[in-house]
Formats: sequence, structure tokens, C-alpha cells
Amino acid sequence: MDKARAVVTGGAGFLGSHLCDRLLAEGIDVVCIDNLLTGSLTNIEHLFGVKGFAFENYDVTNFIHVAGRVDFVLHFASPASPIDYLELPIQTLKVGSLGTHKALGLAKAKGARFLLASTSEVYGDPLVHPQPEGYWGNVNPVGPRGVYDEAKRFAEAMTMAYQRFHGVSTRIVRIFNTFGPRMRARDGRVVPAFISQALAGEPLTVFGDGSQTRSFCFVDDEVEGIIRLLFSEIPDPVNIGNPAEMTVLQFAETIRRLVGASVPIEFRPLPVDDPKVRQPDIGQAMAYLGWQPKVPIEAGLLRTIEYFRSLLDRGAGPER
Ligand code: NAD
Ligand code: UDP
Repeated sequence: MDKARAVVTGGAGFLGSHLCDRLLAEGIDVVCIDNLLTGSLTNIEHLFGVKGFAFENYDVTNFIHVAGRVDFVLHFASPASPIDYLELPIQTLKVGSLGTHKALGLAKAKGARFLLASTSEVYGDPLVHPQPEGYWGNVNPVGPRGVYDEAKRFAEAMTMAYQRFHGVSTRIVRIFNTFGPRMRARDGRVVPAFISQALAGEPLTVFGDGSQTRSFCFVDDEVEGIIRLLFSEIPDPVNIGNPAEMTVLQFAETIRRLVGASVPIEFRPLPVDDPKVRQPDIGQAMAYLGWQPKVPIEAGLLRTIEYFRSLLDRGAGPER
């Protein structure tokens, strides 16, 4: 029998590249489409020459044509770090809206299953804690983060419309803060920020008083949850994240200890609309996917620190 074939938009990014690896390991051919806006060919260079893998440098806000069979479309293209989407507000809105529309159109044309990479940001600065999928969120549409949050909320609405109106088989994963190898050292997200600062002997920049909380999931766990959702029969959004919640200040102290760096902590102004708390309610994922995270945060952090160390050892300067 012919092999199944998946299209991964944003496949040269952090999460997308891990998904390409996993899909290939599952025996599924992969077409990775990425315009390298925030991703990098280094994330997928090991896949060039691998049978069943193809890469196309393309902006998915335009009509997407893929010749031949497509069984799955995984739409992961989008700037994801606050620094990136604040620098790229229009591209972020376009890839969440126009890009989602084009990716859904491809899935419809091919009779493929579609999976949207949504985000905990659809809950905004949440008034319900932890956040279950039934919570509608508290988002400021006109604040600087609105370009990302509202694009993803639109993307979810568009996905549900294709499911209900066109009968496309769709899945929506709400991803909570995920970290691991292949993040850009200086993408501004807190995990690579603190690790690269600690490794460089620089102060750790804690925004606000550091009392805001986040819940961090290691990439291997996240990918496992996404793959289980893809192969499940759940048409509604599902949270995939690690409920282990901590304050940003606790997180800075953890990184300092794990890196073994005696660097100071420097407090900086809190960005506008920075959510005060965030923690996934993973009851749905546990009940319907039999999924829960397995990698303890410190084990995941040690692997990520090792990755950033190896980049430094290879003389790779911090990427922008
Ligand atoms: P990333 O920036 O590493 O990857 C995004 C990829 O999308 C990049 O390779 C980029 O070049 C590509 N891209 C952007 N616009 C494009 C366009 N118009 N056409 C083609 N490619 C385009 O970010 P990531 O952390 O890997 O995030 C991947 C997805 O997961 C995003 O949709 C993001 O919103 C979602 N997500 C991630 C997290 C997380 O913690 N990492 C949390 C919630 C949601
Ligand atoms: N943060 C910080 N210092 C940094 C980068 C981020 O204190 O150098 C904080 C940020 O204000 C937020 C949390 O860490 O409260 C997580 O930020 P990130 O950009 O990783 O993702 P977010 O969850 O806000 O989308």
C-alpha cells in the first residue's frame, strides 16, 4: 500500500521540525512548507536526503498547491514568540487568518485531515485558573499581543467552520509554553532567554516582579500529545501542556542552578498585557488521549541547556 503523506506548514520551525521527525518515524512521508520567517534550515538539515521528505520554501498566506496525495495537513506556520509577533504583526495576522484559510482549502481539496496549532493565548489573561477548554478567554483585541491571540482565535473559528460547513475532519491543539532543542537562542521567549543569558554569564532579565506564572512542557511530550490528537476522533480543541506551574522568578532561579551560573537577576518592566497566570487543565487529554507529560521539567531543561551549550561550542553566535 502507498505510504500516507503529511504537509507540515511551519515545518522548519521549532515545533514543526520535531513534528516532521516524528511523522517520518511513524512511516508517513512529509512535505515541509516554510518561508523561513522565524524558522531555520538548520532545524531540518538532517532531513534533506531522507526518503519521503521534501521541503518547499513558500509563504502559506498564498494559494498552496501540493501535487499528489495528502492525508494530513498540520498548520504550524506562525511567529510564536512575543518578540517575533510584535516585530511581525501583519505577517502574524496574515498567517493565522489567510494562511489557515489556504491550509484548510488544501485539506478540503485533498480530503485530508487538518490539525491547527492553536495556543493557550486564546485564553488571554485568564480569569479562570487552571484553564479548561470550555473557558472562552479574556483577550484584549487591540493590545500589542492581540495580533497573535486574535489571529489564533480566528484560525480556530475558521477551522470549526470548515469542519461544520465543508465536513473537513479537523483537530485543534491548544499548545501551552513548550520548550526544547531547536528554539532560537535569542527568540525572546523566557526559556531560551534565561538559558542563553546564564551561559553567557549575563544577568537574567525577569519581567515585572516575576510573580506571573507559566507551565512549561518539554517538546517530546508536546509532540506525543499532538500526534495522539491527530490520530484521535476529537473534533473540539484539546489543551496539550504540562500543568507543572511555577513563577517566572522561580524559573529564573531554577535555570541559574541548573546552568551553575552565579549571575544576578535584573528586573525589567512587564510587557503590556502579559498574562498573570497560565496552567493547562489537561483532563480532556488524559481522558480521551490517555496522554500526560512524562518528562520532568528539570530533565527537559538539562537537555535544552546541553543543546544551547553545544551551539556555543560549535561557535554558532546567538541567532537574532
Ligand atoms: P517557530 O517560530 O519556531 O516556528 C514557526 C514557523 O512558521 C517558522 O519556521 C516560520 O518560518 C514559519 N512561518 C511563519 N510564517 C509563515 C508563512 N507565512 N509561510 C510559511 N511559513 C511561515 O515557532 P514554534 O514555537 O515552533 O511554533 C509553531 C506553532 O506552534 C505556531 O503556530 C505557534 O503559534 C504554535 N505554538 C507554539 C507554542 C510554543 O510554546 N512553542 C505555544 C503555543 C502555540
Ligand atoms: N519573561 C521574562 N524575561 C524574559 C522573557 C520573558 O521575565 O527575558 C517573562 C514574560 O514576561 C512572561 C513569561 O516570562 O511572563 C513567559 O514569556 P514568553 O515570552 O516565554 O511567553 P508567553 O507565555 O508570555 O507567551
